[in-house]
Amino acid sequence: MRHSLNRVCLWLCAFVLWSMMGHALNESLHICSESHEDRRLYIGDKPRSAYAQLPVIYFVTPTYPRREQIPELTRLAYTLLHVPRLHWLVANDREGCDTFLDAQINGFGIPYTHMASPMPSEFRKAKPAPRGVANRRAALQWLHQHNLTNGVLYFGDDDNTYDLRLFSEIRHTQRVSMFPVGLIAEYAISGPVVREGKVVAFLDSWVAGRRWPVDMAGFAVSLSYMAQYPNVNMPYKPGYEEDLFLRSIGLHIDQIEPRGNNCTEILVWHTQTKNKKSAVVRLENRYMDERSNLGALFRLLEQMGVARASESEGLVATISKNGKSKSHAYFLS
Ligand code: UDP
Ligand code: MN
Repeated sequence: MRHSLNRVCLWLCAFVLWSMMGHALNESLHICSESHEDRRLYIGDKPRSAYAQLPVIYFVTPTYPRREQIPELTRLAYTLLHVPRLHWLVANDREGCDTFLDAQINGFGIPYTHMASPMPSEFRKAKPAPRGVANRRAALQWLHQHNLTNGVLYFGDDDNTYDLRLFSEIRHTQRVSMFPVGLIAEYAISGPVVREGKVVAFLDSWVAGRRWPVDMAGFAVSLSYMAQYPNVNMPYKPGYEEDLFLRSIGLHIDQIEPRGNNCTEILVWHTQTKNKKSAVVRLENRYMDERSNLGALFRLLEQMGVARASESEGLVATISKNGKSKSHAYFLS
């Protein structure tokens, strides 16, 4: 008894500390650009107007600068282009706005909000770090500020793989819907156990005391339901983000709506991309002009954070013809 009381206190104290820290946190949120206009004429085989009555899906994507960022977001954007009535909240983990990314997102023609929401510096060096939390908190703040009480919230990371059927499954969420996520941890699967149409438990290899041992991509929340909980929160606690978020909206297991044919289908995959440092390629500045494509190409790669050309660092660029490499001057001067 005493032991469990201590544990309650420990948990409570930790919680109070976390919420106190919430006020001292060095958090910032900048809206870089935003569009409520949907420039798509057709989605699927129907004109956009055919979908006008559907609730909006607010798709929250935390993202961060690295060489895979543009490829990941490109792939995701081409998925989202097939989804009607969607507002894409792209929250970038960096100080200040990335104007290149801004133009990219705007170019897709789907409604979006692009914001800069850096991880507070005190967490940067933490191991593990709270990845994507500052971003999701910023998106929650945006939803709150806009008083949105209609539609559905979904946390969709930039590197996951989404089946288009996912979007029709979550769109009519009453409170909280849940479904399996493929490629999670040891079992390569995480998700609800369903009996007679009801969620009765969870299958996930890492329980760690979590009441809701689910992945971020494994649930959706209706905004009308979330609006009833003024203390909705996602604390900076690596591994426990989903659990604490779902606790903060007073979820009961019997309220969960299982999706994907009673959780027998996999509509989202926790794919991961190999991360590598941005590349440095040794190439003389004097050849970065309009005599060839290479100057423009490397300027683009640099804006994307993928690679840069350098006079003094990196591997020397091999340029070849007929199986033979020659000096840079041979092809470029
Ligand atoms: N992320 C971020 N800042 C970081 C690391 C990750 O904003 O420092 C984002 C990332 O783009 C992704 C989400 O947070 O959308 C989860 O990160 P990641 O995919 O690396 O984690 P994993 O899926 O491997 O747990
Ligand atoms: Mn990921």
